[in-house]
Amino acid sequence: MGVIGVLALQGDFAEHIKLLESIGVETTEVRLVDDLRKIQALIIPGGESTTIVQLMDTFKLTEEISGLVKDGMPTWGTCAGMIILAKEITEDRPKPLGLMDIRVRRNAYGSQVDSFETDVSVPVLGEDPFHAVFIRAPGIEEIGSEVKPLSHLNEHGVIAAQQDNVLVTAFHPELTKDQRFHSYFLSMVYGS
Ligand code: GLN
Repeated sequence: MGVIGVLALQGDFAEHIKLLESIGVETTEVRLVDDLRKIQALIIPGGESTTIVQLMDTFKLTEEISGLVKDGMPTWGTCAGMIILAKEITEDRPKPLGLMDIRVRRNAYGSQVDSFETDVSVPVLGEDPFHAVFIRAPGIEEIGSEVKPLSHLNEHGVIAAQQDNVLVTAFHPELTKDQRFHSYFLSMVYGS
């Protein structure tokens, strides 16, 4: 089984790695272009999207990652990672990679409720609700016709979606003990 890379420039990459290792998957931290040669799939974690994008540019990762994702590498962005993968964002910064046909607003839940947890239904994960942790979370304002919504949160709309090899979640499955979202991503990588 191929190695799962986790972009490890800033943010909560260690939590993704811990959860993947608890499933028994081989992982590697991605910081340099050379690290990309070893991986079969990539997770872009939560954190600060402006910082992550800046560091991706510094380490010359932006073009390389975009090329691999366009060539079909399974890629999952959680929270800041979702902002980075979007086609468009409502703010001026950062410049997203444009790899999923969604328009995203940063910090969509406002400063009063900037972080919260709630159980959501994610039909592809089965009947049991998924405990979703939102931290200064982005919102999806518009999705293209090729994008499949995987979960909704009442008036906030779509909170998880997939377009072919690209998966996004506005929340942080890596901050729970529930392995189901990671397993879903692994089924995109290795087949189910
Ligand atoms: N608010 C952050 C941003 O705009 C994302 C927060 C997160 O990843 N938990 O980049």
